[in-house]
Amino acid sequence: MRTVADDPFRAPKGVHDVLPPDSARWSELVGAFARRAERAGYGLVVTPIFEHLEVFERVGVTTDVVKKEMYELEDKGGRRLALRPEGTAPVVRAFVEHRPPVPWKVWYLAPNFRYERPQKGRYRQHWQLGVEALGPDDPDLDVEVIALAEGFYRDVGVDASLVLNSMGDDQSRPAYIHALRAYLLEHADALGGEFRSRVEENPLRVLDTKVAEWQEVIERAPQLTESLSDQAREHFERVQHGLDVLGIDYTLAPRLVRGFDYYTSTTFEFVTAKLEAAQNALGGGGRYDRMAEEMGGPPTPGIGFGIGIERLLLALEAGDQAGPVRDRLDVFVVDTLGGDDGLRLLHQLREEGLRADRTAVGRSMKAQWKAADRSGATFGVLLAPDEVSREVAGVKALAGEETQVEVPLLDVAGWIKERLERDR
Ligand code: AMP
Repeated sequence: MRTVADDPFRAPKGVHDVLPPDSARWSELVGAFARRAERAGYGLVVTPIFEHLEVFERVGVTTDVVKKEMYELEDKGGRRLALRPEGTAPVVRAFVEHRPPVPWKVWYLAPNFRYERPQKGRYRQHWQLGVEALGPDDPDLDVEVIALAEGFYRDVGVDASLVLNSMGDDQSRPAYIHALRAYLLEHADALGGEFRSRVEENPLRVLDTKVAEWQEVIERAPQLTESLSDQAREHFERVQHGLDVLGIDYTLAPRLVRGFDYYTSTTFEFVTAKLEAAQNALGGGGRYDRMAEEMGGPPTPGIGFGIGIERLLLALEAGDQAGPVRDRLDVFVVDTLGGDDGLRLLHQLREEGLRADRTAVGRSMKAQWKAADRSGATFGVLLAPDEVSREVAGVKALAGEETQVEVPLLDVAGWIKERLERDR
């Protein structure tokens, strides 16, 4: 017997379709993000969905995302490729390849692929909106990037709290990792082999694990912010000052290391109280001042973030803020003639910038009015033999009790536009 799970004509496990009307909210989020980003001088960047494996190895070969979850493939030419698991490495690869002038500020909308255990808010393909800014290591740029995310969450009505940390610089981090490893190893006998091997591989990756038995030890671990170099401390203080100046609230989170190895200096995350802890991260990012150089480019600091669209939708739903978006038609044409007039009128309405549609020609007038009501359109336009012989159409608002009026065929678009404008 074929089960749902192995039916090849269903989406694979952990991925999903986005259909109307839900997709209207989706595109609204994308539009709001694009407007925010472009207002701050970020241009759209589109990179391929797959890259050479090495690009993503820069994310960190000890990270779950690369080690356990990456979709790797070999193409017919024997190239080792991977589907993008995250957004930053491909953008830095594009920067290194094309060497645009700095500061280079870009935004993106792109899918990411991770072989995770699917659950609510955690999928094998998810979409992210994000920005990357390469060039200056100016802390005010960190503030700009964080403020952009904060403003976007406000635009779309999601309550997101900002948590902030610094991963230090090349002066402070190695000494810290050494101290952290030593501290964690003191507890390795009690916590078992898996703990020990993780600590030995990369102690930072222990800090962001959710294993319950390890939390007590993790909570008492030394904190990076206690051992920042003067330069790293000054940078971090200036970021906090900038956020204060802009009135953006934040909480310091000394153990926020995020799941990738490339972070240096500022790291941050936006979380929501509306979702369970396992999926409460709405977005996050930070500085990656060495990545361009590690890919063979000129030393170029960078900072960015990624925001998960599916999580945003869940947070909106959980906060009862997922009300209808305006995806309705302006006008629906009911055409009982099925001739050139209907064809021409519908085309004209669309050319005039109205959202217009009709059903398949040849259905009864009653069925067509029903379809018009179901469509949620603001106006209905009737083309029937009597009206068309006099070169007029019957126009009526579909909601309420307004009576139908006759409007010259050539004026229908103008008439509707005027009414929409007046009612707005
Ligand atoms: P990351 O790239 O891991 O920093 O994640 C950035 C944001 O993408 C997170 O804060 C989530 O909102 C979202 N996200 C990450 N992984 C997933 C996933 N598997 N499914 C859905 N959303 C995700």
